[in-house]
Amino acid sequence: MSRYIATRAIRGANLIVKEAEQMLQAALAEYGPDQPVAFTNTAYYLPVILGFTGIEVAKLGDMVPVLEHAKRLLHPVPHGSLWLPYLGETLDCGVATLLAEEMIEGIRFVRGEEPQKITWGGSYVPSTSFTSPDGTPAVGDRLNGPIDDIQLRAWGIQLVDGRMPGFAAIVGCAKSNEVAVQIVRELQKRNILVFLCGNVNGRSIIHQLMEEGVEMGYDTYIIPFGTDTIAAIYPLGFATRSALTFGGLKGGQAREILLYNKFRVFAFVLALGEVDDLKYATAAGAITYGFPVIADTVIPEILPTGITRYEHVISMPFDDIEAEDDLERAKKLVQRCIEVRGVKVKVTEIPIPVPYGSAFEGERVRKADMRVEFGGKYSRCFEYLHMADFDKVEDGKITVVGPGFDHVEPEGAMDMGIVVEVAGRKMQKDFEPVLERQIHYFINGASGIQHIGQRDIAWIRISKAAAEKGFRLEHFGEILVARFKADFGAIVDKVQVTIYTDPKKIEEWLAVAREAYNYRNQRLADMVDESVEEFYSCTLCQSFAPNHVCVVSPERLGLCGAYNWLDCKASHQINPTGPNQPIQKGQCLDPVYGVFAGVNDFVYQNSHQSVQQVSMYSIMRDPMTACGCFECIAMVIPEANGIMVVSREDPSMTPAGMTFSTLAGMAGGGLQTPGVMGHGKYYLLSKKFISADGGFKRVVWMSSFLKETMAEELKAVAEREGDPDLLEKIADERVATTVEELLPFLEEKGHPALTMEPLF
Ligand code: SF4
Ligand code: SF4
Repeated sequence: MSRYIATRAIRGANLIVKEAEQMLQAALAEYGPDQPVAFTNTAYYLPVILGFTGIEVAKLGDMVPVLEHAKRLLHPVPHGSLWLPYLGETLDCGVATLLAEEMIEGIRFVRGEEPQKITWGGSYVPSTSFTSPDGTPAVGDRLNGPIDDIQLRAWGIQLVDGRMPGFAAIVGCAKSNEVAVQIVRELQKRNILVFLCGNVNGRSIIHQLMEEGVEMGYDTYIIPFGTDTIAAIYPLGFATRSALTFGGLKGGQAREILLYNKFRVFAFVLALGEVDDLKYATAAGAITYGFPVIADTVIPEILPTGITRYEHVISMPFDDIEAEDDLERAKKLVQRCIEVRGVKVKVTEIPIPVPYGSAFEGERVRKADMRVEFGGKYSRCFEYLHMADFDKVEDGKITVVGPGFDHVEPEGAMDMGIVVEVAGRKMQKDFEPVLERQIHYFINGASGIQHIGQRDIAWIRISKAAAEKGFRLEHFGEILVARFKADFGAIVDKVQVTIYTDPKKIEEWLAVAREAYNYRNQRLADMVDESVEEFYSCTLCQSFAPNHVCVVSPERLGLCGAYNWLDCKASHQINPTGPNQPIQKGQCLDPVYGVFAGVNDFVYQNSHQSVQQVSMYSIMRDPMTACGCFECIAMVIPEANGIMVVSREDPSMTPAGMTFSTLAGMAGGGLQTPGVMGHGKYYLLSKKFISADGGFKRVVWMSSFLKETMAEELKAVAEREGDPDLLEKIADERVATTVEELLPFLEEKGHPALTMEPLF
């Protein structure tokens, strides 16, 4: 351990704990001990404090024992003549620093000072999930603040399946705006989440990116937390909550939480610019999580491993990096960070003139920034993938039939059809829709290109910036050929792409495509649990939730919403020893509840003997387990003789007296809790949706988000259930957030659940 680092970290820790103490005293005097304290949209209180101490800080007064704890962890600054190992002391001080920083953020929330106001001018336009690129996002003068539980869960699946390898916490300010952008782009290309905080002399990398017009927000994987070092507590809160949410750990299991992070959360700290005492102290805290620190300035290094898997602290002075120019230096810096943390990164090189990676999936292209669009209001666009005879497909061939977009006026529209032909010995007709759905993700990965919808309602935009860099129609082909071969090489041997802009050809192919869509719709409708011999398992999430098994059947998709039966079947072909295994249904023990001998055996074995029996179609008896990133939670409301369904996107209070985040703690963790169940939102449309308990008619309350985003599909369900007005009888958060409000609403509307057989 370097004495220099120890000295500075310990000094920083002593100062920040003192500051937290003064702030707490002042806040207690002003607001009193009962003043509520909370971060936004989280069920984990102040998460770092919860993780380290088990203390659930909900009021100012709850911070008093935390402060005492932090003070006990402090050590005096080692003086010059003493030579002792300081690692333990330094790390203790690191933890004390984190506790103090989180208390400070909590107090700032009380004072309305968090999320932070943007300093240095400008405003923050967060990117948000969207269905239309022309909706106006909220523009604010405040930064992101802590990540909410909804987003954490939404990212869960990408973290487990490896699409998102980890996160980088960047603290400080880059050498220039250009370098700042390059560093972030390099990380985005690798799908690494970028968390930003800190400053050097008041100027932060957040300012640099704002000035360069870089889109920040959840969708672009760039989260600006705050422009001081204290905001670095948010990435560590995110790491702690990963362990609590996905690892099934509880507050206070500090050691387990830290080990979980060391081995499963691939994160590192990149310190840009001068490192002061507080940064050293905070870095010491990050090291306890196993996160190494890389600095672009001269600081002493700590090379031995132990707490982290590789080196603890690396110095890579920016100007000394051997390279042609600063941009290349930035590249090398990021490469080094990735090596030090041992992040596994799979990059598929795509020969197109714009950056590519799934971090660009969420970017939107607004009308004013758009060069040309295909589909939407003013033109048509479709995409169609089908298998073809082996010798009819010329591998890698890309053809554009018709004119390019150079003749279209800026911000104009034109028709386009994308036809992908694939061939492969293991390819099956049933996999066509599985592969076709990927077109959306593949195309969206290009920076400056935006893709919405699918089939014949696809809607694609090319930004002016991308067009200026040389992006043309054939590049859609390059993307699709490269990605299908990289991701589906096991079933796809040859890929050929034709892009049609010629009006006659579009008509012809659209007719062919529509026939195929109809055929597929019919095929899906005919596919019921009874019509197949095997279901599929999904144990992808076991890397986070060791005892959880999803059983995926034709009529019930995985709870994350990302895997249906056909997806699992295709994935099994691609990777026969992977997480999706066929489960022979075996003897049907109960057709109503959906209990199968084969399913029970499989689940028992693969849940490490923790789950003995699963009812596929019931919430009341042996419901399927869930881990963390379910799209919806269904829960029984006994008073209404029905269930409510709350979606992940809905932050409001529910009639169960809990928000989604709080409920998620009950539904998750790989446990069976009768009456509570996590599920994918499309399961709501299935005939087998809790069919043993009365089916969809049991739904008495549902988040308006679901009602609105699935309006058409739910209407069809209501008709199928023989009650076309059923949706109007179902309450949502706009009319009822308590049972007392819910019951009169149901009475007035004559909801069928009130007269159904009692649930209990
Ligand atoms: S289907 Fe289930 S186990 Fe598989 S990724 Fe989704 S939630 Fe996880
Ligand atoms: S379903 Fe569970 S284990 Fe899987 S990604 Fe989500 S939270 Fe993780």
